[in-house]
Amino acid sequence: MWDDGDWAGLPALEGDAEADVCVVGLGGSGLAAVDEALRTGASVVGLDAGLVAGGAAGANGGFLLAGAADAYHRTVDRLGGAAARDLYRRTLAELDRMAEATPDLVRRIGSLRLASSPEEEADCDEQLAALRADGFDVEPYGDADGVGLLFPADGATNPLARARRLASDAVARGARLFEHSPADRLSADGVGSGRGAVRAGAVVVAVDGRLERLLPELAPRVRTARLQMLATAPAPEVSVPRPVYARWGYDYWQQLPDGRIALGGCRDRFADDEWTLDTRPTEPVQHALERILRDHLGVTAPITHRWAASAGFVRDLSPVVEEVRPRVFAAGGYSGTGNVLGAVCARDAMRAALHVS
Ligand SMILES: Cc1cc2nc3c(=O)[nH]c(=O)nc-3n(C[C@H](O)[C@H](O)[C@H](O)COP(=O)(O)OP(=O)(O)OC[C@H]3O[C@@H](n4cnc5c(N)ncnc54)[C@H](O)[C@@H]3O)c2cc1C
Repeated sequence: MWDDGDWAGLPALEGDAEADVCVVGLGGSGLAAVDEALRTGASVVGLDAGLVAGGAAGANGGFLLAGAADAYHRTVDRLGGAAARDLYRRTLAELDRMAEATPDLVRRIGSLRLASSPEEEADCDEQLAALRADGFDVEPYGDADGVGLLFPADGATNPLARARRLASDAVARGARLFEHSPADRLSADGVGSGRGAVRAGAVVVAVDGRLERLLPELAPRVRTARLQMLATAPAPEVSVPRPVYARWGYDYWQQLPDGRIALGGCRDRFADDEWTLDTRPTEPVQHALERILRDHLGVTAPITHRWAASAGFVRDLSPVVEEVRPRVFAAGGYSGTGNVLGAVCARDAMRAALHVS
């Protein structure tokens, strides 16, 4: 769906390497960590088990949303006003940075939250009031497609193309990045990968889905879920000007500039099955997505792609950003909303690893 075929690939790690810091995982978050290391002048080696953005980072809905995984008023309840404000501001700044770094790949077209019930409408009212009280841009929304909130600063991207661009830019700036190089030993000395090794002063693990597999000490907090999507051929019969998330964020869709629809969600309706490391799409969830596509959105265009990927969820919605083992830092567990938040968290993990304030 997102693959424009424009990727020459990166070599696998052969033998040993040395750097100030080693990044494990080259999705959007890992690449933000690499960028942060380069900005501070540190030398960096990055490893991915598969391809750059081969996980959720290159297979997601492409929404670029400010804030945390929960609505702003609940972030305020959870973290307190000052921390919630700070986090929201930092995600907005990351959005600006993304638009600046890859202007042709980030569309600042806003996003829409659509309410599915009177209860959710009331929740939108609370979210609106909390955001406005703290001076953030948000507008009440009401049109033929429903009522809810419009977030003018949000955006959309092709997440795979963006990650590939970031990786190419990082290599041009001196980062040594490797694909097909799974990290299998993580310690204060660095990272082992097959018969090779990276000696580094610190390790930053930037893995969202399956994080608890790589760092089992996080298993009590991080749980991997499968999220599923589908996409269509161009659908001129509908017009969706900006990314939409509906039904408490469980269902989401966007229309690309070429008219194709990308739609995901319904995980909560099959929750028992979707807490899994498996990334194959399933018939029940795909059927439910198809019903939204046909019955709710009125799309008649044929379905061209169906896929799934893993994302890391944390019960209290506070992502992991910490030193998990001596000199091994981790960032992950974005609870389904990691395109912007993940970059913010991975930059934090990198600054902690490099002792940069
Ligand atoms: C279907 C779907 C739709 C989504 N939609 C959105 C959305 O619209 N907006 C949004 O903000 N978020 C969305 N999310 C969540 C978002 O995709 C993730 O939070 C985000 O991609 C996390 O990026 P990441 O770089 O932290 O981790 P990942 O994407 O998990 O990337 C981690 C990388 O680490 C590599 N790796 C794993 N283990 C190892 C190892 N041992 N050694 C080396 N490398 C390793 C993997 O190969 C992978 O490339 C969605 C998720 C899914 C699954």
